[in-house]
Amino acid sequence: MQDEVRALLILQDRDRRLSALAKDLEKLPQDEARAKAKLAGDQAAVARAHQALLDCELRVKKIELDAETRRTTIKRLKLQQFETRKNEEFVALGHEIVRYEKDLDDFETKELEAMEEVDGFRKAQQAAEAALAHTRKLVEEDLAAIAQRHARTEAERVEVLAEREKLAANVPDSIMPLYVRLMKTKDGRAVAPMRDGRCEGCHMKLIASTVMKAQSGREIAQCEDCGRILYVED
Ligand SMILES: [Zn+2]
Repeated sequence: MQDEVRALLILQDRDRRLSALAKDLEKLPQDEARAKAKLAGDQAAVARAHQALLDCELRVKKIELDAETRRTTIKRLKLQQFETRKNEEFVALGHEIVRYEKDLDDFETKELEAMEEVDGFRKAQQAAEAALAHTRKLVEEDLAAIAQRHARTEAERVEVLAEREKLAANVPDSIMPLYVRLMKTKDGRAVAPMRDGRCEGCHMKLIASTVMKAQSGREIAQCEDCGRILYVED
């Protein structure tokens, strides 16, 4: 094989590795976003649980307030009852007091029930928080692994790039532009082997003169169909 084509083949190998590494690096932010998205669901669940608890606590306060109003009223009625001298009024006030005490009893029952609900909502919130903490730990591990992959890939890219620059310096200026153009237009494969008289880049049968040119190894032979630089494997 011609030395120039051999140099191009090695260069092509490094260029392909560089493009694969660049693709890997491009994918990392998506992986990162996917990992972080796992948190969103659990965070929303914690927010919902928290809101449910607040709503229930507010309901307890409202019931407490209603109960307190009844207590004040009962106190006032009892005072009135104590102060009255009319038997009729005394009895009427007594009925009122019983009615309000019954009311108060209902509110106190409701309050106990609502307080039990608060306990339930508090437990649910704690469970949601625990689930979030668990997910957060997993996501942090994922993110650390992604960061590690990023550092490794970047280091490899720098290494291959330096190697590539050295290799490129060995390729004659006369064929470099052709190589660069073919790399861009031919899916990252500018140099293709010739097998059984066919270009392995596009699988077309080559004309006899091209086959001979490639076999002689004296000058650069290109596939007449796709334009790739041809070589015969040693
Ligand atoms: Zn071809």
